[in-house]
Amino acid sequence: MIKVSNLSKKFGDLAVLKDISFEVAKGEIVVIIGPSGTGKSTLLRCLNYLETPTTGQIHIGNATIDAISHKPKEVTTLRQQSSFVFQNYSLFANKTALQNVAESLITVWKIPAQEALATAKAILVKVGLEDKLDVYPSQLSGGQQQRVGIARAMAAKGEVILFDEPTSALDPEWVDEVLAVMKQLAFEKQTMIVVTHEMQFAKEVADRVIFMEDGFIVEQGSPKEVFDNPKHERTKAFVKRAL
Ligand code: ATP
Ligand code: MG
Repeated sequence: MIKVSNLSKKFGDLAVLKDISFEVAKGEIVVIIGPSGTGKSTLLRCLNYLETPTTGQIHIGNATIDAISHKPKEVTTLRQQSSFVFQNYSLFANKTALQNVAESLITVWKIPAQEALATAKAILVKVGLEDKLDVYPSQLSGGQQQRVGIARAMAAKGEVILFDEPTSALDPEWVDEVLAVMKQLAFEKQTMIVVTHEMQFAKEVADRVIFMEDGFIVEQGSPKEVFDNPKHERTKAFVKRAL
């Protein structure tokens, strides 16, 4: 249901993604690991054209798009297939938690406001924020803000949720409550692609781990394969440092 073929991305002369191909099945939890500056964020951003790839095809749900010949309408369709959870939450500061979550339902999916707000409320209840519906982001803890960020991604009804280091900006005390929400989503078989340094999360939750370095997928496999029995020297070195 997700197929990425021969994706590359250059910023000027800098080749950041080099011929990346992979597939993700419906319900699969894929964790991407790798050193800083390897292109992990760029890859996620290319998946919904926050960055335009230089070459390559992306197929997600009912969207298929080619970097060379893409049309604006295809980009719109592709963006409806995924939602993003950012490291820094990126919530609307002037909207309440409820409004933040309802936003895409109203603007993208054209759902009537009352219905959208009811759906948003149900999702916020699910992430444990039933008592924060009418609160603005500035009045929420980092962990709570990120749970709103995840609730917003859930509301977007895409095929896949893309997480870019969702816990790295959090004080340590808030990390577990965010990981708990992500584990619940994984348990419900929400397709997810997660870039994270939380190796324990990767070990416990991932169906597949992708190790990236220098813009390439060096190795991928089950957490057991990648963490306990890595094949490539580069993976071995990274895993040894990271665990
Ligand atoms: P980290 O683990 O630190 O988040 P990453 O694997 O997510 O790293 P990216 O953010 O994808 O790495 O960056 C990969 C490379 O692309 C880096 O060398 C970075 O400087 C470069 N890069 C990213 N975005 C841009 C941009 N908009 N313009 C120019 N270069 C960029
Ligand atoms: Mg990054």
